[in-house]
Amino acid sequence: MEERHDYIIVGAGAAGLSLAYHLVEAGVEGRVLLLERAPKTANDRTWCFWEAEEGPFEAVVARRWHHLWFYGQRGAQRLSIAPYAYKMIRARDFYAFMERWLAGRSGVLLRYGEVEAMGEDGEGPWVVQEGRRYRGRWVFTSLYHPPSKNPRYHYLLQHFKGWVVRTPTPAFDPEAATFMDFRLEQRDAVRFGYVLPFDARTALVEYTLFSPALLPPEAYDQGLRGYLEGVLGLGRYEVLETEFGVIPMTDAPFPRRLSPHILQIGTAGGQTKASTGYTFQRIQAHSRRIAQALRRTGRPFYPEPRWRRHAFMDSVLLHVLERGYCPGVRVFSELFCRNPPARVLRFLDEKTGWLEDLRVMSSVPLPAFARATLGVLWRRWGGG
Ligand SMILES: Cc1cc2nc3c(=O)[nH]c(=O)nc-3n(C[C@H](O)[C@H](O)[C@H](O)COP(=O)(O)OP(=O)(O)OC[C@H]3O[C@@H](n4cnc5c(N)ncnc54)[C@H](O)[C@@H]3O)c2cc1C
Repeated sequence: MEERHDYIIVGAGAAGLSLAYHLVEAGVEGRVLLLERAPKTANDRTWCFWEAEEGPFEAVVARRWHHLWFYGQRGAQRLSIAPYAYKMIRARDFYAFMERWLAGRSGVLLRYGEVEAMGEDGEGPWVVQEGRRYRGRWVFTSLYHPPSKNPRYHYLLQHFKGWVVRTPTPAFDPEAATFMDFRLEQRDAVRFGYVLPFDARTALVEYTLFSPALLPPEAYDQGLRGYLEGVLGLGRYEVLETEFGVIPMTDAPFPRRLSPHILQIGTAGGQTKASTGYTFQRIQAHSRRIAQALRRTGRPFYPEPRWRRHAFMDSVLLHVLERGYCPGVRVFSELFCRNPPARVLRFLDEKTGWLEDLRVMSSVPLPAFARATLGVLWRRWGGG
C-alpha cells in the first residue's frame, strides 16, 4: 500500500526544512512530507552568513556582528562590513524553530526513519522509508553522496574542529567575529583560525583547513590548542561544546535531477559555494526559487544561465590552491586589503557585475591567477 503526497522531501536538515518552509510561505498548494532519519536534538553545526536585510529566520539569529577581524600578511584589520551583518544561527535553535513552525502546519508531515531507497517509474517518483512506500508528484532529496572524481574538476575539503570555550576573564572582542586568522603555520594546506564570540568570555573557536584530505583526529585538537594558547594567548579555558565538520569544496557538477521528478537540494544539489563552503544562504535562495517556480508554473524549474562566470572564478581559485601557485594566505590577504569588505562579500555572494569582478580579480596575485585560468580551461576543454 502506497501513501500519496504532492511533495516528498528527503532529509530534514538545512535544505529540507528550508524548502518545506519556503513552499508553505510561498503559498504552494499540496501535501508536503518530510522524511528524516531521527529527531534532531544535537547542536550539530553553527551556520554563519552575511546579510544586509532581515532574513526569514531572524528569530533564531543568536548573534550578529557588524565588524570582522582579518589577520593576514599585512597584520590585523578590524573591518566594518556595512551594509551587511555577519549572522550566526545555531543548528539546535533552527531545528527547534522549525519544529514549532511545523506543529502549526497541517499540510506538512514529518516522519522519522531511515530512507532506504528512492526511484521513479511510469507512475512517478517513489521513496521507501523503513519498509513503508510513499509516492509523490515531486521528490526533493538532500542525501549527499560525494561525487566520484573526474580529472576535469577540483576536489578540496574544508575541514574544521571547533570548541565553545569559556575563559575566566574577558578574552574576546564581542563586537567582531574573526573571519580568518592566518597566524598559523600554513605548511601544505590553507590553515586559519575562526572565532565567533558570544560575549567577552565565551566563543566558538575553530581550527580550519582547506586541503585535499582529512587529518588524523588528534591533529585537530593539537591545532586548536595551538591556536587558542599560542596565538590567542589563552592560559585557562573551559571547553563547553565541540563541533567538527567537513564541507566539500569542489567545482564538480552535482546533477540537479536524478530522474525526471527527483531533484537534489542542499549540498547534494550543488548549493555549496566551491571556493568558500558557504551554503546556508544559497539554500535559502534555491528553496525560494523552487517554491516560486512551483507556484507559477506547477514545476520546480527556473531559468539558469549556461555560463556562470562566478563558478568559473571559483574553479580558478581552487586551481591556485590545489597546485600551490600562490599561498592561500596571500590570496585572501590581497583580497581583503585591496577591496572594501562589502565588495568582497558581494563578490562571494555572486552579486557583483563585470566591472566589480574585474576590480576584485585585479587585486589578487595576477601571475598565479592567469596561470590557473589557463589550467582550468585546459582541464575543462583541452582534455584534462
Ligand atoms: C559543522 C558544519 C558547519 C557548517 N557551517 C556553515 C556555515 O557557517 N555557513 C554556511 O553557509 N554553511 C555551513 N555549513 C555547510 C552547510 O550549510 C551545511 O552542511 C548544511 O547543513 C547543508 O544542508 P543540507 O540540507 O544539504 O545537509 P544536512 O543539513 O546535512 O541535511 C541532510 C539531512 O539528511 C538526513 N539523512 C541523511 N541520510 C538519510 C537517510 N538515509 N534517511 C533519512 N534521512 C537521512 C540527515 O540526518 C540530515 O538531517 C556547515 C557544515 C557543517 C558540517
